[in-house]
Amino acid sequence: MPLTIDQRLDAARVRRIVLPMRSDMPALQHVNAWRVAGTAVFDTGKDDAETRAVWDDQPDLGRITDVFCTHGHPDHMGLVHHFETAFAARVHLAPEEMASVVDAARQEQDQATRWRQTFLRDMGALQIGASVPIPFSGGSTIPPFAYRPLAEDQVLSLDGSTWRVALGRGHSQRPALFLEDRLGILITGDQILPEMTPYVGVAFDTPDADPLGEMMAFLLSWADLDHTIVALPGHGAPFTDVGRRVRAHLNSYQRRLARTICAVAAPVTCADLLPSLFHVSAGQPVLDFHYTMAAALLNHLVATGAAQRWRGTDGAFRYQAG
Ligand SMILES: [Zn+2]
Repeated sequence: MPLTIDQRLDAARVRRIVLPMRSDMPALQHVNAWRVAGTAVFDTGKDDAETRAVWDDQPDLGRITDVFCTHGHPDHMGLVHHFETAFAARVHLAPEEMASVVDAARQEQDQATRWRQTFLRDMGALQIGASVPIPFSGGSTIPPFAYRPLAEDQVLSLDGSTWRVALGRGHSQRPALFLEDRLGILITGDQILPEMTPYVGVAFDTPDADPLGEMMAFLLSWADLDHTIVALPGHGAPFTDVGRRVRAHLNSYQRRLARTICAVAAPVTCADLLPSLFHVSAGQPVLDFHYTMAAALLNHLVATGAAQRWRGTDGAFRYQAG
């Protein structure tokens, strides 16, 4: 009889640590950390009292020598600085992720607010009648004092297991995935998820980027992964048949792009589009991420020549198919 997922994780000495997380989305009520061979940790969860309490209950924390970060978002990397100071753990992440964590921490609040305001003006959110969103509230990650840069195809030897690093794009600057070929285990972070479609949105300081194009190119390269490999995601339970989830993610982005194309038949602003993209009904709060996700869809249409963009006399961008 083939081993169950739990038996395979046991054999590989991988433990799931479910950390609490408050969020507006039902599928985002926790974040996972993965402890391998007792000495390595992949992601840490948020920096808050509830998360620290769960860690405090874990055995032999002093044995942890290395913390690997899938990406720099505060719900995954929040407690890295604590592991570094409390246990002298080495921190590993991609240089691009480190740069964005350092930038976000160093950024003056004024600068961050200005970037957001400029973005919202460009998206038409400041016009009369448009929905002004509620700002992101995640806070920023405290950067580690030192880090070891992860590189594509780097091999990590962890007390009996060997993990190969793959660097992605789309959900954040340069997220890392970790594949243990022999055991058939893949740590996916937020790049491939079992329930929800990974968030892809523009950042306020790079509002013209095409993260959706990068995400879809990344996913295509993972569509044929061996279906028996067990994926360990940032949120949700371990799962197999990664290719099926990858195709579901791609279909979901394609459906959103198709909806966006229909919605830009006549010139519109990003703010005009929100109701048709997200079913944001009257009275429901609009959030920053509605705008950043819509902008990612629009930027991809512009980048692929499916839509045009120009600035209206009121300062907001207009988009139209063709
Ligand atoms: Zn994330």
